[in-house]
Amino acid sequence: MSVGQRAWREHATCAGWDIDRTDPWFPAEPGRPDAYALAKSLCDGCPVLDECFREVMALEAGTSKYYREGVYAGLDPDERARLDHSGRRRRRGPRWNR
Ligand code: SF4
Repeated sequence: MSVGQRAWREHATCAGWDIDRTDPWFPAEPGRPDAYALAKSLCDGCPVLDECFREVMALEAGTSKYYREGVYAGLDPDERARLDHSGRRRRRGPRWNR
């Protein structure tokens, strides 16, 4: 994927977020029931949610839920794993940064 195809990220809500203050997309305690609530609400208003969804589902296709982390496109790791109908199965993590 080229840099040009990722230009939409400049418009992402998370791109302008000060993660030094707090990172709701990767909470310190992901096991808490409300751990992803803030991230999901922020994603809900993100102008590039559709682009984010397509990218994360492609990159994580076939990835076990145990290798997925954080919230992308308003979806937590379990939700993305349930939506993955790629039919592929990988034992390794997602193909980020390729
Ligand atoms: S949908 Fe959420 S994770 Fe995706 S770019 Fe927008 S704010 Fe970031």
